[in-house]
Amino acid sequence: MGPKCWFILTLLMFQGLFISHSQAQEDFDFFYLVLQWPGAYCDTKRSCCYPTAGKPAADFGIHGLWPNYKDGSYPSNCNPDSEFDKSQITDLVSRLKKTWPTLACPSNEGFKFWEHEWEKHGTCSESVMDQHEYFENSLKLRDRANLLEALTNSGIKPDDKFYDLEKIREAIKDAIGFTPGIECNKDPERNSQLHQIYICVDTSGTEFIECPILPRERCPSRLQFAKF
Ligand code: 5GP
Ligand code: 5GP
Repeated sequence: MGPKCWFILTLLMFQGLFISHSQAQEDFDFFYLVLQWPGAYCDTKRSCCYPTAGKPAADFGIHGLWPNYKDGSYPSNCNPDSEFDKSQITDLVSRLKKTWPTLACPSNEGFKFWEHEWEKHGTCSESVMDQHEYFENSLKLRDRANLLEALTNSGIKPDDKFYDLEKIREAIKDAIGFTPGIECNKDPERNSQLHQIYICVDTSGTEFIECPILPRERCPSRLQFAKF
């Protein structure tokens, strides 16, 4: 190989290094924004506890913003050194209490739930957002999805009645533009209930996208929308 060839080869190698580095920013493929229906979380054998601030609004709350891979697997607990730090989100706490309420027992303010979600999922998205952005983006996305309005506009209300799974899916798709994943759980009488909605979000954590893969579904064709 002549010196000219070596020069070009070296140039290409450096370019390759640079490109792969600048593109390897995210170590996941997309996010699931997972929203939970409090009526279904509470109406199970395990039951629930209201947070110290009192009974949350009868509306979808955040479960988490979860980095995921296209094959359905996901990273978790990516950085034990990046501890949850309350002081970074003081300006968001009142909104978190309203729309990311904890329903686990014993009753608490919510920091335990937020800490768990940050440590398990948030630490896997640090290549694109810091702790404040992780919580702020989650709040913004949940408000934008406005699921309860999407459903009630289609006549689907949390009144303990049964609704078609496909009507629920369509109502959400019409409102946000993308097909959601729907997860059910069972009440003590073994009725399947609308429990969680999965909406896919791009790697920047700001835009809804079509899901690269939907979570496994176990909902029957008709399911209950529990009162709360
Ligand atoms: P479960 O077994 O109740 O479905 O899930 C338990 C926990 O595993 C969830 O709260 C969540 O932290 C994690 N998890 C379950 N499924 C998924 C998934 O599809 N993607 C991600 N990123 N996390 C998941
Ligand atoms: P994941 O299922 O995301 O891994 O973890 C859920 C964890 O957060 C569980 O340990 C659960 O006890 C706790 N947690 C606290 N509040 C809530 C809540 O309102 N909903 C759910 N799904 N989990 C909660």
